[in-house]
Amino acid sequence: MVNKPDDIARMPSAELQKLLFDFQAKQLVLEIQNQELRASLGCTEQLFEKSLMGCVTLDKQGCVQRINDTAANLIGFNKQDVQCETLDNYIEVSTKLAYSNYLEKLKSTHLPDVLPLKFYGKNSKTIEVDCRGSIVRGSDNSDLICLFLSDVTDYKECEKKLSSMVKQLENTVNRKAEQQAETNEILKKTINELKHSRHQLLEREAKLNSILNASIEGIVVVDMLGTIVSVNSAVEKIFGYNAGELIGSSINLLMSTTMKKNKPYYLEKYLRIIAPKVIGKVQEIEGLRQDSTLVPLDMTIAEFPLDGMHYYSAIVRDVSARKVQEQQEKEHLEKLAHVTRLGLMGEMASGIAHEVNQPLSSVVNYTKACLLFIQQENPDLEKIGEVLHKAHQQALKAGQIIHSMREFVKPRKIHRSTVDINELIYDAISLFDADFKQNLVAMRFELTKNLPSVFIDRVQIEQVILNLIRNSIEALKELPQFTQRHLSVETSLNDLDYIVVRVKDNGPGLTAHQREKILTPFFTTKASGMGMGLSISRSLVEAHQGTLHFNSKEDKGTTFYFTLPTEKSGNGRNKT
Ligand code: ADP
Repeated sequence: MVNKPDDIARMPSAELQKLLFDFQAKQLVLEIQNQELRASLGCTEQLFEKSLMGCVTLDKQGCVQRINDTAANLIGFNKQDVQCETLDNYIEVSTKLAYSNYLEKLKSTHLPDVLPLKFYGKNSKTIEVDCRGSIVRGSDNSDLICLFLSDVTDYKECEKKLSSMVKQLENTVNRKAEQQAETNEILKKTINELKHSRHQLLEREAKLNSILNASIEGIVVVDMLGTIVSVNSAVEKIFGYNAGELIGSSINLLMSTTMKKNKPYYLEKYLRIIAPKVIGKVQEIEGLRQDSTLVPLDMTIAEFPLDGMHYYSAIVRDVSARKVQEQQEKEHLEKLAHVTRLGLMGEMASGIAHEVNQPLSSVVNYTKACLLFIQQENPDLEKIGEVLHKAHQQALKAGQIIHSMREFVKPRKIHRSTVDINELIYDAISLFDADFKQNLVAMRFELTKNLPSVFIDRVQIEQVILNLIRNSIEALKELPQFTQRHLSVETSLNDLDYIVVRVKDNGPGLTAHQREKILTPFFTTKASGMGMGLSISRSLVEAHQGTLHFNSKEDKGTTFYFTLPTEKSGNGRNKT
């Protein structure tokens, strides 16, 4: 409570004394507080001046009231130069507007906020700062703006570098990611390709296996020790073993005893010495079946390396059927030769009759002469003996001719059957395959399809065809070396429903003299010819109610053709 001056005057001195004492005590306290305040103000000022953060106080117009060293350094001017200047003057154009907006906002809201600012700095080097502002009360009680500036140039620089590094890193990462994606794509593609190849491989293997197993040729793969590594199903069929029994066994199991008998090193010798020499060549061997029977085989050997090892694959074909056929063909040819001889003899009969007739008429004449001599008065016995001797010789000659005839002639019946003429032609001509190759003859078939069948003695008509083909080949052989040699066999049906078979060559052809004589028995132009082939052929064809003809001109080739009746034209059924 405050005492009025009148009250103080009326106060007793003791109270006055006490009041004075109170005053002095309060004055002392105030003095002390004052001192403390001054000390803290000095401290604050020191803080302001020495702070590492730039501090600026501005009046309401934005003019600098106070600035510490750090802030002056940031701006790049002396404290004195800056004093009372608007801070705006030192701020870069780009942040000027933001600055003035910031001050306005600060003044109106008093809310502290952070503003990025750029100052021109020393040597026009842009200084970037973060500015934090607040409103403080000045000594005259007016509002002052206090700005705290922290230099973030290095930080921004670092930030820029960092962001460019981050960008670079991002780019690198993106690039790597793209590369990775590409690699992944390639990998995926490769994996797909691999899968595809694997699939193809499996498919190929399956196909190969099916081919191998479908092959009629047996395929046995053995290693260098002769151990069977694999077999296909044909091997099982040929030898009678199943694959399980063969794989892992020695190839000896399939070899005939004659091949391995008493030859302990035979297999080794075969694989090391013989096999390499016969690679790719066809060998005829005998195999041994499980039931101990022998099987004739054609064998080809192939060699292949695999994983540093050598393997042999033996390709074997069961030729039992071919062997039987070869035997049959041999017998057939023998039969043909027999028929030829018979036909020949038939044709020769007329010539032989002529031959026999001659000695017989000589015998008749000689004996007649003898009778005449005997009837004479003094018969000349010596002469009669001579004539009788001649008669005897002629009789012997006739006997010899007849004897040789008997040797040849053997009765034979014609065996007719229904035959497809085209089939017969193929069969007959296949016998000349080797001759065609050897003499470079180009053989052509022009056989009319679906011809009616003929009722013939197959062997005899085959013989006719063989004779005509043989003659053509021999004629073609006379052509100069590089002339084209053509031979064709044609079949057709003529208007009278006779089958016509034509054998045509482009050989030297026939002269007028040859054309006249060619069908006569014993006419030949060949050194070792008999001149009977065509006459026999003609008589065989005629025996089948057919005819044999030819067309030929010198240097223009020759065509022989014969006809055979069919069912329609009266095929001679029931005739022998
Ligand atoms: P050979 O063949 O024994 O001589 P052939 O009676 O079969 O007996 O033939 C008689 C002759 O007819 C042959 O010597 C040959 O001069 C001739 N000849 C046969 N066929 C032909 C032909 N296609 N081309 C040329 N001449 C042929």
